[in-house]
Amino acid sequence: MNGQTFELLILGSGAASPTAKRNPSAQLLNIVERYFLIDCGEATQMQLRRYKAKMQKINHIFITHMHGDHFYGLPGLLSTMQLLGRKNPLHIFGPKELRPVIEVILEASESRLNYELVWHYTHDNGLNLLFEDDKVKVSSFPLRHRIYCTGFLFQEKPLPRKINMDKLKKFKVSAAEIPKLKKGLDAHNDLGQIVKNNKLTTDPATPRSYAYCSDTISDRGVVPYIENVNLLYHEATFLSDNTKRAKQTFHSTAKQAASIAKRANVQKLIIGHFSSRYDSTVRFLSEARSSFRNTEIAEEGLTFKI
Ligand SMILES: [Zn+2]
Repeated sequence: MNGQTFELLILGSGAASPTAKRNPSAQLLNIVERYFLIDCGEATQMQLRRYKAKMQKINHIFITHMHGDHFYGLPGLLSTMQLLGRKNPLHIFGPKELRPVIEVILEASESRLNYELVWHYTHDNGLNLLFEDDKVKVSSFPLRHRIYCTGFLFQEKPLPRKINMDKLKKFKVSAAEIPKLKKGLDAHNDLGQIVKNNKLTTDPATPRSYAYCSDTISDRGVVPYIENVNLLYHEATFLSDNTKRAKQTFHSTAKQAASIAKRANVQKLIIGHFSSRYDSTVRFLSEARSSFRNTEIAEEGLTFKI
């Protein structure tokens, strides 16, 4: 932990049809107070309310693909943001087919938004940078599903070196040198001497990362994109008793998700997108943990901190 927020709130973790227990896919990722909504299944806005998430702070929404359980919540959320008086532009990242669908819904219902929607299209030719600021970058990568689908990789940017104020005093280095030191450069002291950076600073915390893989057939081709992430979400629609069905429908089993996590050497795996045919997640967990021990269930309302 480096003291700055990097946390994932699970809003929906069911597959195609909502059940009394589970909502369709949606997650809210907070990286140093940037709020990224990932997928927006039906009822996402109600889940945001339920877990007291900061709806109007969401400026970036990422949609993986055009199956309804991943975006049917979007028109409602956009309208609610309008009713709550939103003014800030909202950036939406997703397949190019998403924009006309949303626009026709807004048009047919004569909904006028008083804020700007800024559309960004994903591509499925390798890793594509979608968003970047001074702290974070977000990229998409291809997934293999029945229709066009991408995953998303959220990475913290390298942090500045940590300044040791006592050492600054000791070596007579003024505060004016701090910006240089943070970048890893050496400093000049009050006597005109050069003082090496490593005498005055320590290593910053390692940048953290999160990868989101939903929906996808089990595919080793995804490993290079998600290697060594701190946290991986991978869909696990089925158990091994339905391996054949998983393949037919371009989904994964819990065991397959775990084997991808292991191969990609991630720190922790979360599984979700459970088919409504299963009543409980107990077997999902045991099946996944038999291949990758550090696995958790994406239970709605849970927050995973890195
Ligand atoms: Zn799908």
